[in-house]
Amino acid sequence: MKKWQCTVCKFVHEGDEPPDKCPVCGVSGDKFILLEDPPDTPDTQVPEKGPEPAAVSAQTTSGPEATTEPEDDQPEAPRTPYEKIVHLLVKHHAHPVSVHMPNGILPVSVALFILAWVFDLGLFVKAGFINLVFVVLAFPLVLFSGILEWKKKYAGGLTLIFKLKILAATVTTTACIISVIWYMADPLVLETSLAWVFILLNIVMLAAAGVAGHIGGKLVFKD
Ligand SMILES: [Zn+2]
Repeated sequence: MKKWQCTVCKFVHEGDEPPDKCPVCGVSGDKFILLEDPPDTPDTQVPEKGPEPAAVSAQTTSGPEATTEPEDDQPEAPRTPYEKIVHLLVKHHAHPVSVHMPNGILPVSVALFILAWVFDLGLFVKAGFINLVFVVLAFPLVLFSGILEWKKKYAGGLTLIFKLKILAATVTTTACIISVIWYMADPLVLETSLAWVFILLNIVMLAAAGVAGHIGGKLVFKD
C-alpha cells in the first residue's frame, strides 16, 4: 500500500491514490506527496553511521567549502537571534504550552462571573476580573507562538480549518479584552441592565477558546 503525506499538516494517507482533500487540514489532494517506504527502515540506516566521523572531520577541515553542505538537512538553519528564538519556540511547542495558562483560567473566570451575577456576590466579580487579567497577559505569547507554529509547521496554509482557528482566536482575544475594559469602566456591570450582555460575551469567549482548542487537537492528533 502506498503512503501519501499532506505537505501542509503532515497527515499520512494510505492508498493507491492521494485523497481528494486532506481530512485534517482540508487542502486539496495535489498537496500530497508520495512517501517512499524502504529508505526509512533501521537496517539501512545503521551502516551509514560508520563513515560519519570521517565525513564530519572532512567538513571541518575543508573550511570555506563547508558552506555548501547544510542544504539538504536544514534549509533554514536559524542565523539571527530572532530566528534562533523562533526555532526554539516552535521546537519546544511553545504554543500548546502557553495555551494551557489562559485555557485553565478562562472557565474559572466565567464561572465566577456567572455565580456573582446569579447570587449577587461582589467578591466573585472581582475574582473573575483578576483572573481575566491574567488571561489577557498570557495572550501575547499564545498568539505569537500560534502564528509562528502555523507559519513554520503548516506553511501558513489558509484552508477552512486554519481560518476557523484564526477566527476562534480572534473572538476569544477580542471578547476577553472587551470584558476587562468593560469591568474597569464599570465595576458594577453585573448590577446593571446590561449584565446579561457581559455574561453572554464571556460565554462566547469561552466557547471560542474551546473551538480553538478543539481544532488544535485535531491538527496535532490528526483525527
Ligand atoms: Zn493536511
